[in-house]
Parts: sequence; structure tokens; C-alpha cells
Amino acid sequence: MTSRSEALIELDGVRKSFGDTEVLKGISLNVGKGEAVCVIGPSGSGKSTILRTINGLLPVDEGFIRVGEHRVHELRSDREMRPLRRQVAMVFQQYNLFPHRTVLENVAMAPVQVLGHDPEEVRERAVRLLAKVHLDGKESRYPGELSGGQQQRVAIARALAMQPEVILFDEVTAALDPETVKGVLETIRELVVEGMTCVLVTHEMRFAREVSHRVCFTDHGRIVESAPPAELFDAPQDPRTREFLAQVL
Ligand code: ADP
Ligand code: MG
Repeated sequence: MTSRSEALIELDGVRKSFGDTEVLKGISLNVGKGEAVCVIGPSGSGKSTILRTINGLLPVDEGFIRVGEHRVHELRSDREMRPLRRQVAMVFQQYNLFPHRTVLENVAMAPVQVLGHDPEEVRERAVRLLAKVHLDGKESRYPGELSGGQQQRVAIARALAMQPEVILFDEVTAALDPETVKGVLETIRELVVEGMTCVLVTHEMRFAREVSHRVCFTDHGRIVESAPPAELFDAPQDPRTREFLAQVL
């Protein structure tokens, strides 16, 4: 368990409604530095919404959100959000690479344009990061020439190029051909082993079990149960968790 003081990410009593529908009903979650937390649960239970509140993509109605020194719930404008967004990267199911830019350019673009880093330094960093996600040799290819899994690894390298402290992964393998899923999960596993702080929404239960430090099960806008993977998968306490696991395992 992570104590409040050393948590890098802290959510307390977060509530969010869309119109009359309350989709987050008091979410509390702490993630320590270097911790990998998987969020699992049925479709529509609020998993993506939780991630979007962490990086300020979605303003909340109630509650407290902190990432490092940033009190996210108090940030109002894009300008106020900017330092937070640099610290928190997000990787989506849709990788949204620029099709007419090479793989290298896709990775190097934001650090130059957004952070104003030296282009030559960023280029070297991008080459290193592409090797890290096992795409060395693909630097001058275009996204369309790569498999879905390779494109997703470019998207991960692009996130890393911003040198974030936290990466949020939202079902990043859900749209991939089965044979390319493994390489993406392996890349994420390597990041976790290196101590990258991650929150991962995933349907890959074996991955959640083998890679994460803690698993949160969400249902109808609540975190019903949160435990180390061995505990949550082998001895789920809540009947809703048991029912969900019975369906997916
Ligand atoms: P999950 O990721 O667990 O599948 P989401 O967090 O995407 O669930 O969504 C939770 C609920 O909030 C769903 O019922 C969804 O339809 C609703 N929802 C999400 N985003 C919006 C939005 N922008 N406007 C209205 N309803 C939304
Ligand atoms: Mg979702």
C-alpha cells in the first residue's frame, strides 16, 4: 500500500456526471512512484473517464486530484494545464500517428515543437527510444507501412519522448491483431520493470496479473475492489468482482 505522502497520483472522492448520469461516483485511488496499477471492469464502468480526469482532459464535479505537485482539480485553463500534460502522457487504443510523417518524425515532433528541445538532441533521443520499443531500422518508414502493433509501439515511443513521469494506457491492445498484441505488452512490461509509473486500463487479464503491482476492479463508476493481482484474481472479495472474473477468465 502506498501512503498518501509518497503517492505520485492521488484521487479522492472524484465525482463526474454527464447530464443526469453520474459515471464516477466517488473514485479514490493512490498510485505510488514506480507503481503500475491496472484498472479492469465491464465496458461503461468508468475506466476511461478515470484516466481522463487524471491528466485533466475532463473537469470533475467534485473531489481532489493530484499528480506530483499539480492539483489537477484546481486547474482551469489550457495554459494552467500545460505543465501537468507534459508530466502525464496518454496512449490510446487509436494511435493517431501522422500518416505523412516518418516514424522518427512522429516521435521527435512534439519535444521540438511543444517543449522547444534541440532538434538534434531530440532526434538522437527518438532513435534510442525506437530501439527501446524494438523498432530499430524502421525510423524512415511511414506509419502505414507498419503493423498495428508496431504503430502502437511508435505511439509509446512518442509518449516517452516527452519524458513524462506517468503514462496512462487506455486499452492500447484492444484494436490490434492478436499476433501483434504480445510485442506491445512486452514493451509496456519493460517500462514497468524500469520503474515507469503507469495506470493501465486493460482487458488483458494475464498481463494485469503478471505485470501490475495492483489491480482495481471498477463497476458502475466505483472502484469496488483494489488489491495486488494475486489476491484480486485468486481471492476476489466482492461478488461483482467474482462475477466479472468468471466471465472474462
Ligand atoms: P469504460 O472506459 O469503462 O468503458 P467510460 O469511462 O468510457 O467507460 O464511460 C463511462 C460512462 O460514461 C459510459 O456510460 C459512457 O457512455 C459515459 N460517457 C463517457 N464519456 C461521455 C461523454 N463525453 N458524454 C456522455 N457520456 C459519456
Ligand atoms: Mg474505455
